[in-house]
Amino acid sequence: MTDWFLDCGRELPWRTDAPRDPYRVLVSELMLQQTQVATVIDYYQRWMVRFPDFATLAAASESDVLHAWQGLGYYSRARNLHAAARVVIDKMGGVFPQEIEQIRSLPGVGPYTAAAIATFAFDQPTPPVDGNIIRVTARLCDYRKPVDTAAGGHDLRSIAQQWQPSLEEGGAGMLNEALMELGALICTPRAPRCSACPVRLFCQVQEPETLPIKRPPPKTVELDEHCGWIVHQGRVLLEQQTGKRWRGMWKLPLLTEPHSGEPLAALRYPFTNHRVNLAVFPATTPLFLAENQQWIPLEQLETIAITAPHRRALNQLIAQQGLTTGSTLD
Ligand code: SF4
Repeated sequence: MTDWFLDCGRELPWRTDAPRDPYRVLVSELMLQQTQVATVIDYYQRWMVRFPDFATLAAASESDVLHAWQGLGYYSRARNLHAAARVVIDKMGGVFPQEIEQIRSLPGVGPYTAAAIATFAFDQPTPPVDGNIIRVTARLCDYRKPVDTAAGGHDLRSIAQQWQPSLEEGGAGMLNEALMELGALICTPRAPRCSACPVRLFCQVQEPETLPIKRPPPKTVELDEHCGWIVHQGRVLLEQQTGKRWRGMWKLPLLTEPHSGEPLAALRYPFTNHRVNLAVFPATTPLFLAENQQWIPLEQLETIAITAPHRRALNQLIAQQGLTTGSTLD
């Protein structure tokens, strides 16, 4: 399995050092949550130039961090990464812990990420059970119960744990990376390439595409988001978000009353199990600004962190109305 990985594994920028540096593992793992590898590569490389280590990231402002993350979505990951860097520098004397419970105590680091850092950076036998490892494990063992339940997760973690070499034997990090890579390249959700699989002789599944079994997904719920387009003397009114998910990011101001009629701009975007219909309507300049609202000069829009759907709407509106920002917003 590891021979196959060394021959056939992808060369990814976060795999270039050996042993892998915990900072690079943490950044790549947080970026890869909910995001495709192809999208992450560019962001990761730019991030490493801008924030090459915990100390640089800890010293950065939140707006710089959010700006560098802009477009990757799920911004709590960026805020957690920033907070984790500050804990490592301020509370751990700049030394990243090797003990899994201490790794887990860092902001934004759950059981999966802690296991990934422990195994990739410190070669510990802690399988990071992600979607790829779940699929490969379920198929190898022909596990025919739902995997997205507490019992299913427990069973698959136990099986993956049994395959781990001890710390003394070494090689757990590479084995886990190989399992994940097998899931990404060969044992794919659809059309797995079993004839090219390095572990096909041990595989018990007859119909791989029927596994893993999952519970039915929650229904998608439609949501309307009606916002206002208010431009005055070359500045646009935006509001900074205070809720958990988008905290610190800017959006067009939310209209208090739902609007009907033809919007100036409209687009749809997914949000957890919701599908949001964003519509932007012309609105009048308010007499007083709310605490979180601010007039932003059009030429400064590129320098602040705006949620991706709202940036797309802003780009549409600016192009549609022939306004200039001094540069492109993407
Ligand atoms: S033989 Fe096929 S189903 Fe089994 S692990 Fe390999 S790719 Fe997956």
